[in-house]
Amino acid sequence: MQGVGRLSDGRACFVPFAIPGETVEAEIINAKDRFANARLLSVLESSEDRAQPLCPHYGICGGCQAQHMTYERALKMKRDRVYDAIKRLGGVAEPCVLETIASKKTLAYRNKAEFAFKGNCAGAFQAGSHRVIDINACPLQTDDANAVFRFIKENRGNLPVAYVVPRVNAEGEMLLTISIEKSADIAPLANKLMKEFPFLLSVYVCLLNNRPAHALDGACRRVAGTGEFTETLCGLKFSVSPRSFFQVNHKQAETLYETALEFANLKETDNVADIYCGAGTISLAAAQKCAFVTGVEIVEDAVKDARRNAEVNGLSDKTKFYAGDAAEVYGKIYKKQRFDCVIVDPPRKGMDVKVVNALLAAPPERIVYVSCNPATLARDIKLLTAEGVFKFEKAVPVDMFPMTEHVESIVCLAHD
Ligand code: SAH
Repeated sequence: MQGVGRLSDGRACFVPFAIPGETVEAEIINAKDRFANARLLSVLESSEDRAQPLCPHYGICGGCQAQHMTYERALKMKRDRVYDAIKRLGGVAEPCVLETIASKKTLAYRNKAEFAFKGNCAGAFQAGSHRVIDINACPLQTDDANAVFRFIKENRGNLPVAYVVPRVNAEGEMLLTISIEKSADIAPLANKLMKEFPFLLSVYVCLLNNRPAHALDGACRRVAGTGEFTETLCGLKFSVSPRSFFQVNHKQAETLYETALEFANLKETDNVADIYCGAGTISLAAAQKCAFVTGVEIVEDAVKDARRNAEVNGLSDKTKFYAGDAAEVYGKIYKKQRFDCVIVDPPRKGMDVKVVNALLAAPPERIVYVSCNPATLARDIKLLTAEGVFKFEKAVPVDMFPMTEHVESIVCLAHD
């Protein structure tokens, strides 16, 4: 996270790793018409909120951006970012933005890692680049995830490993996916891993597509183990497959969903849509409190998980899940039924404008918007409130990703 200074001509100058209020020496690395970016050289007068980074790779690794400040300060900066975005980009005069809800765990909180491999280096991506830096452990990951990563690093031989993606659940069990660049027999390594780590339930291999867009962009196949991987969340049981989205901070995900449902204020008779529903986590939590939930999600494996999860939790009669693009699917179903509440949880690019238009054409009483990107959240708020169809009520940031700059927030919009 960064500090902002002013150049002598009034342009804003962003300085990563500086804290607002500090006096620093910084070097301009690029200057644009309206702002400039600079690199921190030294801190001349430091903020009382400055903290000693705990990871030796901090500042080089692209994973963390908030280790140089106290946790309280990071929470405040995240709240300020949401407030500024909703005010300036969202066009809401004095938005009600509550304090950021802190995460109980600030280290080892992640239940999923993506360790990258390139040449002799294995670990994490360097900030702002696709270079891989060599690390032995990441403090945001569990000891088990770090141990499995190190074992593969040391025992991979000539295998074309590109990513190692461990997923752990609250019971400490692990589902492991090894992504490879070209076809190879990973069974011997997988069997070694199963012997070495009793907590491993299964090992999958993912054969990456050409120019993969992410660490699991390819077909996944199980090569060792049999156990089904499940996670308990808000008292519900969820099956999770290697490619399904699942929130990475388990305890805080429960807080996120409980808060989202508080904002939704569901009645027993409510008909609800959950757009961008993943494996159906929010949908099922909502289904316990309302009449019916329709979920929409583009990843087919995730929709299969969602259907199975509904069944396992006895909620099949109250839910229906569609696999497909939100714009296309919601663009059809909103014409056939009325929704009292629509929950949306889109990826970083925010909602498709067609989804926004469908919400404007047939407004539900409430929209609960869960967002991992304040800028696109604010853009969508602006569209939804422009003609007065929806009114911005309140927002709350929830810290899902301590030590990083990422901000998750929940917004409630109401239609009279
Ligand atoms: N609500 C879920 C998932 C949120 S992440 C949870 O909390 O677990 C966002 C989800 O949107 C991902 O599952 C992603 O696969 C899905 N998605 C991305 N683009 C989409 C699109 N165009 N249409 C429908 N779903 C999409």
